[in-house]
Amino acid sequence: MDDSKKPLMIGLIVVCFALAGVIAYWTSRDSGDLSAVRGEIQLMKCRNKDCQHVFEMDMADYITELREHTTGLQVPGLPCPKCGKNSAYAAIKCPRCGVVFEPGAAGRDKLVDTCPECGFSERASRRTNP
Ligand SMILES: [Zn+2]
Ligand SMILES: [Zn+2]
Repeated sequence: MDDSKKPLMIGLIVVCFALAGVIAYWTSRDSGDLSAVRGEIQLMKCRNKDCQHVFEMDMADYITELREHTTGLQVPGLPCPKCGKNSAYAAIKCPRCGVVFEPGAAGRDKLVDTCPECGFSERASRRTNP
């Protein structure tokens, strides 16, 4: 048995592991993590006052678009399919009155999912009756 080849083998194994790690990193960054959210619906609302269009996006498409449009720290507006402006933002629907609003619309002192119309918050109600 030739012992001089052992360090070479170990080196090769380490390289293989490092490579596998890099590949796993890239695939999880790219699309691997998006398959988990595909099929989930992200509600969108257009900020354009004359439009206010509400539509649904696949969560995976939403995240992909968001990555493409993001510059710096600002959350970008995505293209609205109705008016064509980059003014569509993630929104939620009030389970009580059905109004669609952007998180935080009720004000800074309220929970982000508080409805600006009726004041209902799913988070708050979950907290009081678990
Ligand atoms: Zn619009
Ligand atoms: Zn409401």
